[in-house]
Amino acid sequence: MIKLLLWDIDGTLLDFKAAEKAAIKNCFGIFGIGECTDEMVSVYSEINRRHWEALERNEITKKQVLTGRFREFFSLYGVDTSLAEAFNEEYQIRLGDTIVFFPFAKETVENLRGKVIQCAVTNGTKRAQTRKLGNSGLGELFDYIFISEDLGAEKPNREFFDRLLLQTGEYPKDEIMIVGDSLTGDMRGGNNAGIKTCFFNPSGVTDRRGAHIDYEIKSISEVPALLGIE
Ligand SMILES: [Mg+2]
Repeated sequence: MIKLLLWDIDGTLLDFKAAEKAAIKNCFGIFGIGECTDEMVSVYSEINRRHWEALERNEITKKQVLTGRFREFFSLYGVDTSLAEAFNEEYQIRLGDTIVFFPFAKETVENLRGKVIQCAVTNGTKRAQTRKLGNSGLGELFDYIFISEDLGAEKPNREFFDRLLLQTGEYPKDEIMIVGDSLTGDMRGGNNAGIKTCFFNPSGVTDRRGAHIDYEIKSISEVPALLGIE
């Protein structure tokens, strides 16, 4: 019986791609560096994904992710790369402006409120996540919010999970489950912590990249049944 449920935010409850697209386009306007086309957003998205995965493998720092991704992106399109740091600052603010839920995400968190302890677990920046959780109304639905910047450790490192349990109190490992869309961050993180894993896989990824997965779902609406809750 799961008592402690850990929710990833970006790409799991919130459609990160939609927010990312709106925020980047907006920032191109603010910085007056031309138009960012949909195709450019896709290129950026791939660069961004690679940077976060390198962080999850502990190869680069968070700061290197945040500015390095824009530096690489800008260099492809002849945009001044020295703008990367300031651009990222603005981008963090704008990211919280566009809220798009995955279907049933908010309803599911509302439904489970009071039935299990629900925690947000995110590697996103504190600035963007705080705005996002506030604007989406999700913030007040969670019992705890764990942002890696506050914990001083990132998913998938075991310290991230050890430190959050200091705040929630200990639970048997088989009573804790993480739900997330990232094999390298959430599923590996769950494996490192020895807890149950639920892979949100709406696009049908087949390569598990060596992660152990207890449950796989295509829709967030499947989560309550996994917990024996209707
Ligand atoms: Mg995610």
